[in-house]
Amino acid sequence: MSKIRFTILSHGHIENDLAWNTATPNPGNRFNKNPEAIWGEFPSFSVLVEHSDLGWILYDTGCHPGDEKDRLPKSFTDFFPLYMDEQDYLENRLKSVGLTKDDIDVVILSHTHWDHSGGVGLFSGTKAGEKILTSGLDYSFGIANSHADISGIDGGYIKQNYQHEGLGYEFIDEDYKLAEGIELIALEGHSPLVLGLMLHMESGTYIFPSDAVSSKLNYGPPAKPPGFLYDSLGYGRAIKKLREMEKKYDAKFIFSHDNEQFKTLKKAPEFYE
Ligand SMILES: [Zn+2]
Repeated sequence: MSKIRFTILSHGHIENDLAWNTATPNPGNRFNKNPEAIWGEFPSFSVLVEHSDLGWILYDTGCHPGDEKDRLPKSFTDFFPLYMDEQDYLENRLKSVGLTKDDIDVVILSHTHWDHSGGVGLFSGTKAGEKILTSGLDYSFGIANSHADISGIDGGYIKQNYQHEGLGYEFIDEDYKLAEGIELIALEGHSPLVLGLMLHMESGTYIFPSDAVSSKLNYGPPAKPPGFLYDSLGYGRAIKKLREMEKKYDAKFIFSHDNEQFKTLKKAPEFYE
């Protein structure tokens, strides 16, 4: 059995109306026709995996530090403010476990929304940067739409995140075994395609569905779809696929934007073995 361990690299948090993440979380009724929005806090993190054959693998890259400042227009950041300390920057989180960008062997982007692909430019000119693994369906949708819009933003896609020199991509749009004990899961719904991550370790199987299902509240049961969704029927298929995998492997889930769960997770430099 390949030896696998992983840790969570925290990249700060995003705040926004919960309705983006979970549709109608506080519905009105005839006695309360204008209920208040529920403002929520949502973690942003990447997953650093050490695999005995593949080396160091980074799954997602968090937001770009500039997204907290003035890289994005106010029309975006007023709705989705980002809070990052310097220690949350990807290079500093890598440093906290004794690594630099040049030590990373494989970078995987679950999808190319801003809060998952913002740190990818760090890998320009590195070995991992030559061939970043992501979904071609998601990437082509994101690059086309973000470049088509005058603001440079479409949905969660941001033009600058596709404009780094010295990066190459390999597209994967199906379930894919990277090596023994490490698999990518093709999940529909949230965007044209999200690549989830599954790790089979000594302590059990872990599934990272990324934003295909970003919290326990979404997963249920009963499943609750987000307000922001590319394909509602595809979302239902993703839930079904994940439930089957959960049962098959008795898997534990680590959700991408679940603040309650996030508080309970081990973070770098501690590892799950
Ligand atoms: Zn996200």
